[in-house]
Amino acid sequence: MSDLAARLEHVMDRIRTACVASGRDASAARLLAVSKTVPVDTIAYARSLGLREFGESYLQEALPKIAALAADRPVWHFIGPVQSNKTRDIAAHFDWVHGVDRLKIAERLSAQRPASMTPLNVCIQVNISGEPSKSGCEPGETLALCLAVAGLPQLRLRGLMAIPAPLPDDASAEQARAPYALLRGIAQQVKSALAARSPEHAADFDTLSAGMSDDLEAAIAEGSTRVRIGSALFGERPSHTV
Ligand SMILES: *Cc1c(COP(=O)(O)O)cnc(C)c1O
Repeated sequence: MSDLAARLEHVMDRIRTACVASGRDASAARLLAVSKTVPVDTIAYARSLGLREFGESYLQEALPKIAALAADRPVWHFIGPVQSNKTRDIAAHFDWVHGVDRLKIAERLSAQRPASMTPLNVCIQVNISGEPSKSGCEPGETLALCLAVAGLPQLRLRGLMAIPAPLPDDASAEQARAPYALLRGIAQQVKSALAARSPEHAADFDTLSAGMSDDLEAAIAEGSTRVRIGSALFGERPSHTV
């Protein structure tokens, strides 16, 4: 646990350096701490170090953590694939959802978001590497899905999210950037289409959820505003939970 402060400093350094290297403001990309498999007292410690936003991928694991840490008022992001039978709990307990890739799921989240809560922030996941087995909508379907989701009353469409296919060890910096460049291009297209319909929806669309421990530099170079970092902060996870 005592390593966490040093790791956090190192990760913040990488983020700031990458932002500045690409000509952006040093704080242009924000850190989302991915706390899946991390015990609740470590998350409480991370909170005490000033981290506030946490990402979880497994609902059954996340719910007790959310309950235990309620007094610390973290911001919780659901970053795993969203199954229909999980939407009610996700809508009631999370602030953000990053893995929405179908209208049916978005409609359920909107309908099930309690009226007493602010609209749920969502990012649409795009399958930028063209992997047939991976979740995410197809690049060519993204615009239509975004326009439909932006109209749902209890959701706030914030942007796009992607998880690229793993790169070979000898991949170049250009290869690492290519999927994120594609994501950025789609996001620009969505943003202009939203602007043509509703300035408010276009202003809300401010997030590119892109980059993980191994490739945050490539994602930030292509405009990421939110990097999702697990192992570089909390150490390696047991392999079956990657
Ligand atoms: C686990 C996970 C991460 C964090 O990955 P690291 O390589 O540990 O930084 C980021 N995004 C998603 C969607 C994840 O499931």
